[in-house]
Amino acid sequence: MVSCMISLLVWRNSIRPRSQPVSWFHIVWFTQCVPRHAFVVWLVLREKLKTQDKLQTWEVNDTQILLCSLCNSCPDSHNHLFFDCPFSNEVWRKAQQVIKLPFWSFNWKDFPGIISPIASLNSANAKLMYAATIYYIWQERNRRLFKGLKRSPARLYDDIVSTVRIKLLSVRFKESRQVKELKIAWQLP
Ligand SMILES: [Zn+2]
Repeated sequence: MVSCMISLLVWRNSIRPRSQPVSWFHIVWFTQCVPRHAFVVWLVLREKLKTQDKLQTWEVNDTQILLCSLCNSCPDSHNHLFFDCPFSNEVWRKAQQVIKLPFWSFNWKDFPGIISPIASLNSANAKLMYAATIYYIWQERNRRLFKGLKRSPARLYDDIVSTVRIKLLSVRFKESRQVKELKIAWQLP
């Protein structure tokens, strides 16, 4: 009887689907994260944003709509919006000063792999900057598409920096040499 129950448990565990821990969990949800930024990053990493390549699969015929609103060169997709788009590339190049990773040289398949090193950096400003950049690129795409409002890459970057700085002002850091440098760089009191 006992051996029968053990066999049943082994069989049940072998067929029960288990959710795998994802390597990028800590880069999305960390202590200082901005929840609305984290949510968009989570959607991006799960490829759940309603991008135009997905609308095409639903047979939307209006080709005027199906162009990336940031560069007007092709329909947008997760890979295009966050890696291939020249507009996004310009924003990432500016953000590299903080993130220290050349995001524009990667593609969608590399994404989870390149995020993990940032998580281990224990660098709040790099994580906040990375998440805010993703969030603002998606926001800018939607502002252009649905409201006709446009910002230049430089203006968008300024808005990202301003948002990250406001968040950093609310973070209570332990004093250290790195924190001192961070405060100088971000002009924090
Ligand atoms: Zn584009």
